[in-house]
Amino acid sequence: MKLTPKLVVNVGGMFSGKSSELQRQGQRHILRGHKVLFLKPRIDNRYSEDEIVTHDGRRVKAVNVDVAGDDFLDIISKDIDVVLIDEVQFFEDRLVSLIDNLLVNGIRVYCSGLDLDFDGKPFGITPLLMAKADEVKKLHAVCDTCGEDAWVTPRKNDNKETIQLGEKDEYFPLCRKCYYEHKFDGFWGFKKC
Ligand SMILES: [Zn+2]
Repeated sequence: MKLTPKLVVNVGGMFSGKSSELQRQGQRHILRGHKVLFLKPRIDNRYSEDEIVTHDGRRVKAVNVDVAGDDFLDIISKDIDVVLIDEVQFFEDRLVSLIDNLLVNGIRVYCSGLDLDFDGKPFGITPLLMAKADEVKKLHAVCDTCGEDAWVTPRKNDNKETIQLGEKDEYFPLCRKCYYEHKFDGFWGFKKC
């Protein structure tokens, strides 16, 4: 039987388990006999050209998609039931309407992406997808400093580019309190707006 169309968005900082959650969601549909397709932006080849690899090394086959979405609809054949897209923050705005197109055609869509960039600002199309989603799952890494739920993933270096692919030697998860202390050199005292 055809699935109900639904948009599920997994968000959080780096190391919060977003790719693992996407794999888990896909595996459950595979067990149910659904035809599943994993996608990822062509920009992200840190670990593998044609796989989604989690930080702890688990991997699934994935098709690379242009960040502008030019080849998006060509990749998705008519018999696909579920599309799962990793690292959505890297895609251009057009991907939002392409995802709408999938939903209108009865496809279940799962996305994973960073909600905030290294500077604590909403990242790319993730906030738009969160607004449109049927379900938003907010995942958390563990704060590097105090062990609370992390909120953001600042850089260890002072590169100001929004996109810098990296690993744990370049980024570290922090909770909100530890982030404010890190960024503002002290927490107690209001900042001028
Ligand atoms: Zn903390």
